[in-house]
Amino acid sequence: MLCFALYGKGGIGKSTTSANVALALAESGLKVMLVGCDPKADSTKLLRSGKTVETVLDLLRSHHRSALPLERMVTEGTGGVLLVEAGGPRPGVGCAGRGIIAAFEALKARRAFEIYRPDVVIFDVLGDVVCGGFAMPIREGWAKNVFIVTSGESMALYAASNIAEAVDTFAERGYAKLGGLVLNRRDVPEEREQVEAVAARLKTRIVGDLPRSELVQAADVRGEAVLVTAPESDMAESYRKLAQSILAICRENARAGLVGEGRKAFGIIPETESDFI
Ligand code: ADP
Ligand code: SF4
Ligand code: MG
Repeated sequence: MLCFALYGKGGIGKSTTSANVALALAESGLKVMLVGCDPKADSTKLLRSGKTVETVLDLLRSHHRSALPLERMVTEGTGGVLLVEAGGPRPGVGCAGRGIIAAFEALKARRAFEIYRPDVVIFDVLGDVVCGGFAMPIREGWAKNVFIVTSGESMALYAASNIAEAVDTFAERGYAKLGGLVLNRRDVPEEREQVEAVAARLKTRIVGDLPRSELVQAADVRGEAVLVTAPESDMAESYRKLAQSILAICRENARAGLVGEGRKAFGIIPETESDFI
C-alpha cells in the first residue's frame, strides 16, 4: 500500500487535483482510497456527483463509538474510488489537526485498511496555517510522501515553502519525504520560472504541470471530475500524467525503505514486499 498527501494553500486546487488523480489511478487498475482532511469536507464530492459524504468526526459525534460501523465512514464513489472525509472540529473548539488524527484512528480501529486493502491512499490536506495541526498526518506517520500543489502566486508559494519546511523537520526522523511540487497554473507572468526557482530553493522538483482550463470549472459545476466530463481532453491527460509521476516517486521511495512508519500508522503488517507495490 502506498500513501501520499497533496498539501497546499486553500483554494489552490488540491481537491480537484486529488479527485482526478484518484480516478486516473483507479483507471489504471489500482484500488484507491481518497481521504479528505480539510474541515471544508468537499474533497470527495467530485467523485460523488457533487454530493458530500458524512464526515468521520460528525459520525463520531453523533453515535456511540462502538456502535458506529466502518461502512458508514467509507463510501464508494466514481470508478470504485473509496471516499472518506475526516471532517473538522466545531468552529472555535478543538484542533483541526487532532481531529484528523482522531478520524484516522477511528478508521484504523475498525481495520479499514486491512478490510478494504487499498493499493493507494491519498490524503488531501489543507496547509494554509503555520501550526503543528496541519503537519499531524506527517508527524503521526500517515502521509509518507508529500506533494505540494502551488501556482506561481506569492501566497501559494509562501504556503508551499512552509509546508516543505515542516516536511523537512520530520524527514530527518524518517517520517515523510517531499515528493515535489505540482504546478496548478493561474497564468501569472513567468509562472513556471517562479515555481522552478522555489523548487530549486527547496531542493525539490516540479512533478506535474497542470494548465488552467475552463474544463475544470465546467466539470466542477457538474460535480464531476474532468476525467468523467472530458475523458479525451488534454486536461484529463495532464491529470493522468501527474498520477503516473506521483506513483513512480512513491514506488521509488517505498523501494528506498521510506514506508516503515506509514505501515505502523495504518496498523498493517505486510505479508510480502509486494504489499508496498
Ligand atoms: P482546494 O481543495 O485547494 O481548496 P479546489 O480543488 O476546491 O481547491 O479548487 C478551487 C477552485 O479552483 C475550484 O473552483 C476548481 O474548479 C478551480 N480549479 C482548480 N484547478 C484548476 C485548473 N487547473 N484550472 C481551472 N480551475 C481550476
Ligand atoms: Fe488549529 Fe493548528 Fe492550533 Fe490545531 S494547532 S488548533 S489546527 S491552529
Ligand atoms: Mg479542498
